[in-house]
Order: sequence, then C-alpha cells, then structure tokens
Amino acid sequence: MVFIPIILFVLGAVFGSFACCQTWRLRNRDKSKRSHCQKCSYQLTWYDNLPIISWVLLKGKCRKCSHRIGVTELLSEIFLGLTFASSFIFWPFAPSDPSAGLNGLAVAEFAVFLALLIGLTVLFIYDARWGELPIKPLIYCVACAVIWVLLHQAGHIVSNSFSPNNMVELLGALLVLPLLYYFLYKLSNEQWVGSGDWILCIPLALVLGNFWLAFFCLFTSNLLGCLAAIPTLTKKHKTPQHKIHFGPFLILGFLVVFLSQNLIYQLFYFY
Ligand SMILES: [Zn+2]
Repeated sequence: MVFIPIILFVLGAVFGSFACCQTWRLRNRDKSKRSHCQKCSYQLTWYDNLPIISWVLLKGKCRKCSHRIGVTELLSEIFLGLTFASSFIFWPFAPSDPSAGLNGLAVAEFAVFLALLIGLTVLFIYDARWGELPIKPLIYCVACAVIWVLLHQAGHIVSNSFSPNNMVELLGALLVLPLLYYFLYKLSNEQWVGSGDWILCIPLALVLGNFWLAFFCLFTSNLLGCLAAIPTLTKKHKTPQHKIHFGPFLILGFLVVFLSQNLIYQLFYFY
C-alpha cells in the first residue's frame, strides 16, 4: 500500500509537466506535438523530460542555449505529484466495500478525480501567469466533474445509500459557488471576478456536492486570496491594473475542503 502514493506522486509529476506544456500550447496556439525550448526551439528529448529530475540536473536551463526554463515547470510537477499522492492518502470516501462492483466504481471515480486535477492544474498555471481562465480546460473540467458525480451517485445506488437528498445538496453547492460568482461577475462588470471564475466554480461545486462544503470552499479561497493580497496592499505605489487572480485560490480552497471534508463534518456536526 505504501507504494501507491509514491507511484501516484511520479504519475502526478509527469502530468504536472504535461499540464505546464498545455498552458503554453493554449497561449501560443502552438500545435507542435513535442515540447521545445521557448527561445531556441530545441526539441526536448526523453531525458530532458523527466519530471523534477531533469529540471534539477539542468538547473532550470535549456540544454542547448541555457535559456531559463522558469520555476513554474518544477513547481507544477511537484504540485500535481503531491496532489495526486495526497488525494489517495486523504480520499474522503471509504473504499472498503465487499461488493466488487462498487470497488470498480470507486477506482473509476478516483481516476476521474485525477483527470479533473490535471485540468485544474492547467487552469491554475494559466490564471497565475496570464490572469485568464481559457474556455477549453474549463469545459474539460466541467465534463470530468459531471462524470465524477454520475460515478459517485452510482456508487451510492450500488451500496444502497442513495437518497434524493443528495441531489438537493448538489443544488445547494451550485447555489453557493457558481451562482454567487455569476452574480458578482454581473454586478461588478468583471471588476471583482472574471468571467472564467463562475464557470470554474461549476466543477468545484459538483464535486463538493454539498452546500456547507461549498461555503467552506468559498471561505477558504477568500482567506487564502486575502493572505496573498497583504504584501501587495502594503506597497505604496499601487498599479491600477493590479488585481488578484482568483482561480488558483478557488482551486486550492477546493482541494483543502474536498480532502478534509470528513474532518469538517466531524467538527461541525452537519450530519
Ligand atoms: Zn533553448
């Protein structure tokens, strides 16, 4: 069992590298299949593409022209590696059901969650870098979340724990996150939140599936966003265009709340 988080970390690091490449492809509308240096177009070989290891060995520089690759590549590999591994360690749903059908469903549910994490990482990097949430990865995340909800509810049906109440709770989550953000977006004329933020809230709310968890996600994201904003607020010269890009904080808040949901339930006695 101890090997699974290690394997997931490596897998996450590989997909972290992939996610980072995807952001460049989306940005430059670059159709080339293989990764290359942004400056000299040197095509990376397999040994330049080993996640984390290659970056450390090359000290974050291109092998050919020594152009700095940037720390984002390394950070996204570590981030997704850790997220994959901790998703397994802190997975909030009990997998130990005797029914084999449910186990298959549980594995599929976990795999779709990992697929969602890859999409969220693309959005995280893109928003942190350029302050936008592109529509393609947003649609991908919504699709992953819908499949995840179907698998999750199918698991409830198989284990006879399905209740129509689940759908009411799902609706509650959608009311707190996407709908609230949509109103903020419309009311503020894109000043407080961007157009992508409310769409990003849809997959997050679907997977959280509960009014209170969505509320906690909102609270945690805002708290993280405020903490990150403190250094910029103390600066004397405020640039008018400077605003906090909220996508990464929503994603971080979502991860924290999703993986600690059992603890939240215990602490606040929602059930
Ligand atoms: Zn180069």
